[in-house]
Amino acid sequence: MIDVAVIGAGTAGLTAAIYARRAGASVAIFEGAAPGGQIINTPEIANFPALPGVSGFEYANKLYEQAQALGAEFVFDTVKKVTGDVNSGFKLMCEYGTECEAKTVIIGSGVKRREMGLAGEQEYAGRGISYCATCDGAFFKGKTVAVFGGGNTAVEDATYLAKICKKVYIIHRRNEFRADRALVEEMLEHDNVETKLSFTVSAIHGDAKLTGVTLTSVDGHDELLETDALFVAIGLIPENGAFRDLVELDDAGYIIADESCETSAPGVFAAGDCRTKEVRQLVTAAADGAIAAIAASRLSRNV
Ligand code: NDP
Repeated sequence: MIDVAVIGAGTAGLTAAIYARRAGASVAIFEGAAPGGQIINTPEIANFPALPGVSGFEYANKLYEQAQALGAEFVFDTVKKVTGDVNSGFKLMCEYGTECEAKTVIIGSGVKRREMGLAGEQEYAGRGISYCATCDGAFFKGKTVAVFGGGNTAVEDATYLAKICKKVYIIHRRNEFRADRALVEEMLEHDNVETKLSFTVSAIHGDAKLTGVTLTSVDGHDELLETDALFVAIGLIPENGAFRDLVELDDAGYIIADESCETSAPGVFAAGDCRTKEVRQLVTAAADGAIAAIAASRLSRNV
């Protein structure tokens, strides 16, 4: 039986693995995709203390190597269900049949990008609609593109695209951006960025590829925006469905945990963006990982 099973190899999960290994616990870390989490697609991390300018990929890779070097065992499979309790032990069951028994569990399942829910969204995904500017931006070099959203992701995407595309529209439903002011100012330094504030995307148009979108303003009028691509960055949603029967979730689906990252189920901890919290940042995900791992390692010695 493993001392600490970590679910998710993003910043929270990898940091938890590092701390738990350093505390002497045996660690298995489960990841259904590439290790690193969301940050992997950020071109430049501007706000992690003492690491200005490092790329998300470089950062994530170092974190992964650090956890690996300390002896965390990586299992590339998605955890679909967790049963049991702290007295008898937990059992993790994965998509492709992997099973694992663990004394304690740290959930660092993160979040995924919210979709628009419009007709044609799935059909045009990969044919003009994208959820990752750094992954797909290069396909639209020299073309006209649009970004939908007003948070840090959308504004960073627009800045990134402004450097390679002819024209970038940024569409946001309110008349002011949610993103940090410094990021907005940096984006607006690019002459080829045009803001479409107080608009939402209400329809998608195309033939074989996306050709445009309908924008609807807050006062109800529609306009057609011709664009070769739409990068959707309208926020994040938690991926905690697999833990619904194990721990208490809030109304939005985030795991409720206290400041020591403990959930409603003793022996189960939640770390990073997947839990109810005010500030979802790399630095707070890393902090959660450390806090959860120290508590889980200590508990695993006593059960
Ligand atoms: P956010 O939740 O911060 O922003 C989402 C944006 O999408 C908001 O502007 C919101 O509008 C809008 N939105 C939400 N739902 C809809 C909808 N249904 N239709 C239209 N628009 C919608 O998400 P992000 O992905 O931008 O960022 C997530 C977290 O990651 C944040 O904490 C952010 O600070 C952090 N981050 C930090 C970075 C950095 O520091 N360099 C880089 C990237 C992300 P409204 O404002 O009206 O609510």
